[in-house]
Amino acid sequence: MTSASAVWHPFTQHAVQPEAIPIAKGEGAWLETADGRRIFDAISSWWVVTHGHRHPRIVQAIRDQVDRLDQVIFAGFTHEPAEKLARQLIAMTPPGLEYVFFSDSGSTSVEVALKMALGFWRNRGEPRSRILALEGAYHGDTIGGMSVGERGVFNAPYDPLLFDVERIPFPAEGREQATLDAITTACRNAGVAALIVEPLILGAGGMLIYPPWVLAEMKRICEGHGVLFIADEVMTGWGRTGTRFACEQADVTPDIACYSKGLTGGSLPLAVTLCRADIFEAHYSTDRSKTFFHSSSFTANPIACAAACANLAIWQNEPVMERIAAVARAQARGLDRFREDRRFANARQIGTIAALDITTEDAGYLAGIGPRLYNDFLERGLLVRPLGNTIYLMPPYCSTPHELDRVFDAISEIVDGIG
Ligand SMILES: *Cc1c(COP(=O)(O)O)cnc(C)c1O
Repeated sequence: MTSASAVWHPFTQHAVQPEAIPIAKGEGAWLETADGRRIFDAISSWWVVTHGHRHPRIVQAIRDQVDRLDQVIFAGFTHEPAEKLARQLIAMTPPGLEYVFFSDSGSTSVEVALKMALGFWRNRGEPRSRILALEGAYHGDTIGGMSVGERGVFNAPYDPLLFDVERIPFPAEGREQATLDAITTACRNAGVAALIVEPLILGAGGMLIYPPWVLAEMKRICEGHGVLFIADEVMTGWGRTGTRFACEQADVTPDIACYSKGLTGGSLPLAVTLCRADIFEAHYSTDRSKTFFHSSSFTANPIACAAACANLAIWQNEPVMERIAAVARAQARGLDRFREDRRFANARQIGTIAALDITTEDAGYLAGIGPRLYNDFLERGLLVRPLGNTIYLMPPYCSTPHELDRVFDAISEIVDGIG
């Protein structure tokens, strides 16, 4: 032990990584360290902060709610922030999603989605339990989330506990039909409950993008075989891909949808799983064994719900789409610098997310280059956390073109230094 801290950090190898940096303040797209250094938050504090840190409307909503109700059991009781949030979510998400189940994180919203799917089939007297999932997917770090996610170094120790899923190849450019054919073949087998996908972009799997028509076809195939279609919009939701939700670009209404990260503007932990009416109705019965048996202690915490309502008000009353378009333009300009640059490959973008790979032999998540890049960015006052040799930016929507230009300058300088 070299550190006085008792904290065990997430996704952190304490033996080799530098000590965690104390952050004292956040404002807009910036973090401030305890000793007064400013750091530009180019990854929105792990993809959650959409409008910027401490958006005044969200801060005020949290303050107001704390003065009224902090927490209440959500079985047998309800409260206005949750009711209002649910009504508004139904109104703003793709038409056909009619019920809202609350939880606390992206991972739990995925667990809820999987349980809803299995409960739906069982309660209808047609038990189906096989899940289809994309290669390279990330759906969280709980056992169910890991099971439907890509297997690898992250979950090797837990592999014996993970349940089997059927892997569908990622729809890489030029190989989309193979993906669709694999879904069709898989859906023909008995017992398939659902397909779960990250719509339009695999996040933790390397920021890999696929087009809306493929997403639309995936849904169409599932529908044709009566297989439930689960959209994990935990990362893509709330404007990240240039539309409020990624599914909008494919004109797809999923049967079940998960939202979390940007739901409260990134201020407090909260998640929702939305579903079609017939999934709720399959659990609606005088037979109490058909109840949806899921809860967490803080289901629909009133303060978190109030923060989420404030996020929705921001979407309704502020030019969020314009800010997103401005960030997207700046990202496109930044990436353009590297399109012909042999040091990089696969410059790609969807909405506010920009990514490019460093051409190196040293690839993969555990690539030595990742931590080195991370430290080089930090030295320049930039929070950028490469996924292996993939550098990506996912900044808050209040980021200015100038701030983003600086990050792209830094990418060039840093990779020069490595080359
Ligand atoms: C981050 C993420 C999750 C897990 O969310 P947590 O809040 O970290 O549990 C699930 N799915 C996707 C697509 C994500 O990006």
